[in-house]
Amino acid sequence: MLIDTHAHLTDVKYGGAREIIDNMQADGLERIIAVGFNEFTSAYSVKIAEENEKIFAAVGVHPSDAATAGQGYLGALSDLCDSDKCVAIGEIGLDYHYEDTDKRAQHRVLCEQLELVREKKLPAIFHVRDAYGDFYDIISKHRDCVTAGAVMHCFSGSKETALVYADMGFYISFSGSITFKNSKAGEIISALPLERILIETDCPYLAPVPHRGEINYPKYVRFQAEKIAEIRGVSVEEIIKITRDNAYRAFAKMK
Ligand SMILES: [Zn+2]
Repeated sequence: MLIDTHAHLTDVKYGGAREIIDNMQADGLERIIAVGFNEFTSAYSVKIAEENEKIFAAVGVHPSDAATAGQGYLGALSDLCDSDKCVAIGEIGLDYHYEDTDKRAQHRVLCEQLELVREKKLPAIFHVRDAYGDFYDIISKHRDCVTAGAVMHCFSGSKETALVYADMGFYISFSGSITFKNSKAGEIISALPLERILIETDCPYLAPVPHRGEINYPKYVRFQAEKIAEIRGVSVEEIIKITRDNAYRAFAKMK
């Protein structure tokens, strides 16, 4: 069965995600990790996880939300981390995609949350976009914070970058963008050890082909498994099994 390691179940488009959760068995989904991106969606993700056996949560402040994070955000995240259903701290990282980005706030909030990663001994889920150089500098300085592993979510860097993080023991997670026609993920996926690969949807964003441009759903994570199977020349079942095993290893609190 499939595991979607990165879904935004709190999105208003899902209206509480009841339908998604009720259909998991029929859709071949074993687990979903509901990922927060600010204080509110982190608390909401933990709530959904605590109310539904097959849902787990990650809590964190996304770089694009760094500048507006409230004073008490770290304490709030710290409390959420103590839930049995919270399996990771994320998504956290750097995102320079938009021109008006507040880099100082992003750096501060990332470093503060890396201290939380250290304290809680949880894996980190990193969001990095157009900022791989600065991210590498920060993570190199704070390497000792990451004691329970990490995931490079929705990976969009180069093959060389992917291999650097795989060598550090991080997982490289692929979203629906690997199914897009212009995707360069083929050479990255070919080069990585299968044991370091995760699949995710990042729904409601980034719906894979053949649903590109539509609302994305956790069940579409299957298309990522199919694409990776095609690239590696192995069966879809094998990729589903390997990525499932990887997900339980990456997120040790997930049962
Ligand atoms: Zn996300």
